[in-house]
Amino acid sequence: MRKRIGLLGGTFDPVHFGHLRSAIEVRERLQLDELRLIPSARPPHREVPGASADQRLAMVQLAVGKGGGLQVDDRELCREKPSYTLDTLESLRAELGSEVALFMVLGWDAFCGLPSWHRWQELLGLAHIVVLQRPDYDVDVPEVLKDLLAARSVDDPQRLANVSAGHVFCLSQTPLAISATHIRGLVASGASPRFLLPDAVLDYIETKGLYRP
Ligand code: ATP
Repeated sequence: MRKRIGLLGGTFDPVHFGHLRSAIEVRERLQLDELRLIPSARPPHREVPGASADQRLAMVQLAVGKGGGLQVDDRELCREKPSYTLDTLESLRAELGSEVALFMVLGWDAFCGLPSWHRWQELLGLAHIVVLQRPDYDVDVPEVLKDLLAARSVDDPQRLANVSAGHVFCLSQTPLAISATHIRGLVASGASPRFLLPDAVLDYIETKGLYRP
C-alpha cells in the first residue's frame, strides 16, 4: 500500500488539545503512517505571533513528546522566505517522491480562507485536503470553494488511498471549541488555561512568561 503522511501546519501560538486531538483522530481514521505538525515561521496571513518561532517549536515538541504517534517537522522554520504552504508541499514532494499520499489537514476556518493563499489552486496537485470541523468558528464557505467541494470531495476515505493527491475529505472529529487566541486571552487576563492544552506546554508558557500583557 502507498505510504500516507498527514500534515497539520499552524502557528501553534500555542499548540493546544484542539490541534492534538484532531491530529490523532485524522491519523487513525485515515490510517496514516505519520502525522506531522509543521510550525509556521512567518505566517503570511496573520499578525506577528506572541511567542517566537523557537518557542512555538519548543511547545509543539513538548506537546508531542515521544511515542504518541505524532511527529514535528521544522522545515518551515529553516527557510528564509515566507512560509507558503505550496513551498512546503513542494519540498516534501521533492523529498518523498510522487507516490506517497499527502494529506494537508485544515480546520474549517483555514479551509474557508484558502482562496487568499499563494497559488492555492495548485495545492491539490500536491496533496489531498482534509477539512476538520471547527465548532468555535461560524464561517461561510466562499462560492469558489463550494465548486471545489462539489468537484473534488469524497465521502469514503478508502478512495483517498488510490491516489497521492487531489481529493477533499471532510472529517467529523471530536469537536473541541479551543483556540490559541482564547488561550492567549486567558493568560493575558491572569486566568488559567489548564486542561485546554498539555501541562508541559502550560508549564513552558509560565516559565517563559509568555502571553502576559
Ligand atoms: P489562533 O486562535 O491564534 O488563530 P488556532 O487555535 O486557530 O490559532 P492555528 O495554529 O492557527 O491555531 O491552527 C492550525 C490549524 O489547526 C488550522 O488549520 C486550524 O483551523 C486548525 N485548528 C486549530 N484549532 C482547532 C480546533 N479546536 N479544532 C479543529 N481544528 C483546529
